[in-house]
Order: sequence, then structure tokens, then C-alpha cells
Amino acid sequence: MNRKSLLNIYDYHFVLIIKFINHNKETKIAMKNTAEKTDKNNYISKLKRSLTSLFLPVDKNRKGKCISCGECCKLPNICPFLVYNKKGKSSCSVYKIRPPSCRKYPRAESEHITKESCGYKFVKP
Ligand code: SF4
Repeated sequence: MNRKSLLNIYDYHFVLIIKFINHNKETKIAMKNTAEKTDKNNYISKLKRSLTSLFLPVDKNRKGKCISCGECCKLPNICPFLVYNKKGKSSCSVYKIRPPSCRKYPRAESEHITKESCGYKFVKP
């Protein structure tokens, strides 16, 4: 990973911290709009997802694919790198260096809190 990529990651976390502190209007809208208004949509759960994604694999019972709804990029705040095209499809402006929790979401059913809009499903073995 080069120096520029590392700086981008630091920027990403810096922006997240600023968003957390400000808890601005966008964040409140995101929390209202998030597919499942669950008690898992908070910063503690985000921290857990971030940590588990570092060493746990994606559950083998996960099926489907990402349909670019963008809902997981709002948990619990709108990611500053979330962008939408004219057709309303979301994408990540730092896709190549996105963190593991974004790469693996939804890693496990217990962490899947955007079931209503997400293209992934967890099936019983
Ligand atoms: S919630 Fe699911 S379908 Fe939507 S962007 Fe995230 S992974 Fe893709």
C-alpha cells in the first residue's frame, strides 16, 4: 500500500470522527432511512463489524450479490465516500482501498441490518 492510499484511509477515519462529533442533519436522516431501524444501527455495532471483519471470514451461507443500494454505507452515518450515479446506483469513491468491514458486509447474518434493500441473503444450510 502506498503512502497516498494510507493517507486516504487516515482521511476516511478522520472524516468519520468529525461526523460522529457533529452528528449533523445528514446523519440523522441516514439513521431514519436505514432499512432496518434496529438497535444494531449504532457506533458500537459498527466498531464490532469493523473488528470482526479483520479476522473472521464471510459466512459461507451468504448468497446473492451487491445491488448497489448503498444502505450499508449509511451505518450509522452517511459515508463521505458514498456517491450515486444518475440512475441512483451507489458506489464507493475509494473502492480499491475500502476497509475490510465494507469489503465483507454483510459478513454474517447477525451483522446484516439492511435486509430490506440488500441483494445478499443468508440461507439455512
Ligand atoms: S446493503 Fe447490500 S446491496 Fe446494498 S450496497 Fe450494501 S452490500 Fe450492496
